[in-house]
Amino acid sequence: MRIKADRDVCVGAGQCVLTDPDVFDQGVDDGIVWLLAEVPGPEHEDKVREAVSLCPSGALSIVEE
Ligand code: SF4
Repeated sequence: MRIKADRDVCVGAGQCVLTDPDVFDQGVDDGIVWLLAEVPGPEHEDKVREAVSLCPSGALSIVEE
């Protein structure tokens, strides 16, 4: 699993960070998403899928590898 985050689409709502703070972070100034792990470990897969479904802007997507 590889995560893609479109920083042009993100609205900084922070749902992803609340869902898995080991994988997602936000810029201090703009609140826009940063990926801490583009390829998360298997133990994060469920949370990452939840974060993708919760993201209100559709900025997050998953590429299966
Ligand atoms: S949940 Fe979506 S809109 Fe909110 S910070 Fe994360 S990527 Fe951006």
